[in-house]
Amino acid sequence: MVTKAFASSADLERKVETFTELADGVYALTAEGDPNVGAIEGEDFLVCFEARATPVAARRWLDQLRERTGKPVRYLVLSHYHAVRVLGASAFDAQEIVTHETTRTLIAERGEADWASEFGRMPRLFEEPDSVPGLTWPTLTFTDRLVIPLGGDRGDLVLAHCGRGHTAGDIVAWLPKHKILFAGDLVEAKAALYTGDAFHDDWATSTLDTVASFDAEVLVGGRGAVARGKDEVAAAIAQSRHFLDELRRLVGEVHGRGGTVAEAFRATHAALEPEYGRWPIFEHCLPFDVQRYWDELDGTDWPVVWTAERDREVWAALQEGDAAADGQQEAGR
Ligand SMILES: [Zn+2]
Repeated sequence: MVTKAFASSADLERKVETFTELADGVYALTAEGDPNVGAIEGEDFLVCFEARATPVAARRWLDQLRERTGKPVRYLVLSHYHAVRVLGASAFDAQEIVTHETTRTLIAERGEADWASEFGRMPRLFEEPDSVPGLTWPTLTFTDRLVIPLGGDRGDLVLAHCGRGHTAGDIVAWLPKHKILFAGDLVEAKAALYTGDAFHDDWATSTLDTVASFDAEVLVGGRGAVARGKDEVAAAIAQSRHFLDELRRLVGEVHGRGGTVAEAFRATHAALEPEYGRWPIFEHCLPFDVQRYWDELDGTDWPVVWTAERDREVWAALQEGDAAADGQQEAGR
């Protein structure tokens, strides 16, 4: 049994970044499964979507954006509270930092713990970690929908909450004029889903139904390539839903027959690995995903806070379960 390195702590190779102009004044930067970011030009201002893990990492994105436009950032929109998406916020010098109201609650409740947890799990994303000045706090929040008129003939940018999903407070950014949707971590394009803070049942049903109802022609997910055309958009949503459905089914079976969470992890890993094992962050996510859905089945509605310590405990408990199972198979041969 080869011990797996904790989460993504051994993933140290920088990904290739791709800057794309999706429509006139609409930009995305994808990075082979690292967190995606976007930007939308208003007539005399800029809206940025997601902030990256540190100001230094954010500046590399802003430098590319500044080759296209010098407009000031009026709104920095953060799809949810996770550290790798928000802690670079200070680099944007934004007039307003916009989140869902529940994201503010989550930052107050668990922002510090999440920072330590995510830094331990994926240190590569935290370029020059000392450049982070502190937690990122929203200055403008909403609960359902917020419309930003872009000015001129640019149409509106609609920010919307589609229900509980990847976290309790995810929002998406929708451009009706171009039918472009920035979906945050609610949809991943050929990258594993992180569900450690999720509401699996809501996400896999009504929330993804609402995401699909935008009928987008271009979708920028939280990770992975841009989905272009209705077929690719539908495929990205379907793949994300399938991952959730399989996780729910497999963990649910073991939970239902009175098994252990380590058994649930083994069963889920064995079933999903052939299809999803090569996708970015699959091995990283799965122990946390299984533990969270197990907690939900146990009746824990509000996700337990991940701390650097709890991360290591859960990881070790599930991998040890794996080692014990290998031993049993060995003995049975
Ligand atoms: Zn996230």
